[in-house]
This record gives sequence, C-alpha cells and structure tokens, in this order.
Amino acid sequence: MDPPPSPSRPRPPRKLGTFLRFAPPLLDREELLELKDTLDSGWLTRGPKCERFEEACLRELQAESTLALSSCTEALHLGLRALGVGEGDAVVTTPLTFVSTAHAVIHAGARPLFCDIDPADGNLSPALVREFLDAACAPGPDGSRIHRETGLRVGAVLPVHYGGFPADVEGFRGIASECRLHVLEDAAHAFGSLAGGRPVGSRALLRSPGPGLHALAAFSFYATKNVACGEGGLLAGPETVLAKARILSAYGISDARRIWGRYAPRGTWAYDVEELGFKANFTDLGAALGLAQLRRFPEMQERRRRFAAIWSGALSGLAGDLVTLPEEIPGTRSAWHLYPLRLRAGRLAGGRDKAIERLRELNIGASVMFQPVHLFTYYRRALGHREGDFPQTEAFSASEISLPMSPANPVPLVEEAAETLRRLLLDMAG
Ligand SMILES: *Cc1c(COP(=O)(O)O)cnc(C)c1O
Repeated sequence: MDPPPSPSRPRPPRKLGTFLRFAPPLLDREELLELKDTLDSGWLTRGPKCERFEEACLRELQAESTLALSSCTEALHLGLRALGVGEGDAVVTTPLTFVSTAHAVIHAGARPLFCDIDPADGNLSPALVREFLDAACAPGPDGSRIHRETGLRVGAVLPVHYGGFPADVEGFRGIASECRLHVLEDAAHAFGSLAGGRPVGSRALLRSPGPGLHALAAFSFYATKNVACGEGGLLAGPETVLAKARILSAYGISDARRIWGRYAPRGTWAYDVEELGFKANFTDLGAALGLAQLRRFPEMQERRRRFAAIWSGALSGLAGDLVTLPEEIPGTRSAWHLYPLRLRAGRLAGGRDKAIERLRELNIGASVMFQPVHLFTYYRRALGHREGDFPQTEAFSASEISLPMSPANPVPLVEEAAETLRRLLLDMAG
C-alpha cells in the first residue's frame, strides 16, 4: 500500500508488476495463418504475396504506385538513385533521425547537408531549409542551388516525419519547385499519418514539384514500426520513378517479375541485366506478416491514439513546468509511432539519463529518439561536424524520452506506467 498522501510530498513512484516493453509487435493468429499460407505455397521470397501487399499499401496510402523493399534504408537509397541524385549532389536533411537517413544519402554517392530542426515538432521546417539554402548556396544556371563550400548541387530535400508528426510537405514542394530539387520523405514513422486529410505517401501529397522533379516517400516495416514485418520497407510515388527503383532492387534485371516467374510452369530462364543493381527485394514471408498487420491497422492506430491520450492525460499537470508534451499540429494527424516527451532542462535532479535509468528500475522501457546523427564518430570524421553545430537538435535530443506506444501493450499497464512516470517526475523535481 502507498503511504498516505501529504500535501508537500507526492506519492513515491511504484514499480510496475510486469515490465512495460518499449515497442513489441502486435502479432496474432492472423499472422500465423498468413505465414502458413506462404509456407504452403512453396514460395518464400518476392512473389505474389509481395504484389498483394503492395496493392494493400497502395490502397491504404492512396498512393500512385508502391514498391516493397528489404528495408526503409534501401527505400531511401534506391529512391535517391531512381531520382538520379548521387555523385556531385548534396541532399538537405535533418540530424534528428535514425542514422540510416544520412547513410542512405552517402550510399547513393551524395553528401548530406544537415539543417537544424524546428523544436516545436522535431521536424525540418521549410522556413529553416529556405534560410539555409539562401545562406549556404548560390543559384546555379538552371535555377538549382549550388552549395558554396563543397560546390555540390543540391539535388533533393529529405525531411523526416519525426515520430509520425507530418512535416510540412506542401512547404517543401514550394522550395523544391523554386530551387529545382526532388523531395524524398523519410516516412519510416508515418504509415498512417495524415496531412490535410490525406495520407503521407498519397498521390495528393506527392504531387510533382515541377517539370522533371518528383516527390517520393519511404516507409519502414522494421520490427518496432507501426506495421511490423520484422524487416521491410516501401517506396510510394510516381510509377515512372518506382519502375527504376524496381530494377535497381533486383540486381538490375530488367523485368524483375521474371525472378519468380522463371520457376513457374510457363516461366522462362532468360533475362537481361540493364544496370549494376542491388539486392533489396522484399519477401513473401514478410508480406504475409504485413498483410495480416494491415487488416487490423485501424485498430492498432486507435490504440496508439489511446496510449498518447493516457500519457498526455497523466502528465498534463506537469506541462510547461517540468515537461513539454507532444501535440498534433492543427490540420494533421500523427501516426503516433513515438510519444516524444521532452523534459525541461535543469528542473529534474539527475536529468534525462537518470529519468530513463529510474524508469527501467520501475519496469518501464523507454528510449531516446534520437542521438543527433552529426555527433556520431563517423559523421564527425566524414563531414567534420562537432558539438554545437545544430543546437536545436542537440537540445531536443538531450531532453527527450520516447515512451512505450506499442498496441501490443495492455491498457491498464500503460495507465499504471503513466501514473508512475508522473510521480517519478515530481519526485525528481524535489
Ligand atoms: C527505422 C527508421 C529507418 C530505417 O528503417 P529500416 O526499415 O530499419 O531500414 C529510417 N528512418 C527512420 C527515421 C527510422 O526510424
């Protein structure tokens, strides 16, 4: 039993009876049946189930075309290559992301140019990108921007929909149109996000910024993401661009369908290789999980919204003073991949790291999304970055705690955890 409450001392936080995991997938009989169906079919890798999954994603996202791939990292990499962004190009992106966003740019042969975030939502903002392009670049002959320091042409802007909160894609299309760039959205968190009532990845939101320019979105089906297939990714966008990515994803074989078709009774063994492609196809095993996940996607999203309301409800009394709560931007809907809570610097004894440590002791799994990309050893070495380069990102990252949002978690346990966190923060505030 708790000690009786006193007006000066809040109740101490109480350890949860079971560990609240950070992001377990919600898997059920549906997944088992779909997997069995795939096993029974005798075909495990890219085949008919991948095509059905691509169609299901196309409907869900209201996309023009979809291409399932081995990961979001590869979707970003091949997306850039299919857009023709590579050697000689730079890509404007955010340092508040998972490292694969920036890795993909370098894998494509281009150079990431980091731009600091808007601390309101953790996203790149068109105004800040515009400011950066005006300050660091000179206009090139065709209207594109040339980065003064490196001489590279800015070929694309790569915003991340941080946590599932949609970045201002309309604003980025305006910049893309004026500065002759492509838009590639890292939508790893944004399957189910809406802007202006349209899904991120939809045909409506991925309209071309101008002649010869395109907009694509890359999604992730990694084990912890909103649609969990273990591993997997998806490109959404115009079919003309996706057709190129499709060839690149399958060794450069011109008709990728032949890879599985060639073993069919009427298949043919002959194929041609047009490009030095990669191995980045999705699998029918992964698609089986994805099809089952999509069938209960609305339910899973509803539960994420419920969890967001539970965290916000418990912590709203501390907002402003001890914490900043994540909020949906008017006119948008977050997919609530993350619940990024920010702690007020200096208000809590021991700070963020201590809070995470204590949460673990209290049986609550929390994480940090993300460590700033530019401060990793590789990025310091490769691009010469150091502390202080992107102060908003660094401050955001240093104060952030991502709370469990998985729909696999039981509601009462999340409710208990929210109350425990509230008490912990009061306790740490002393
Ligand atoms: C998870 C994640 C990725 C990478 O996704 P994979 O499918 O694991 O390659 C890319 N960007 C962001 C922001 C992510 O969180």
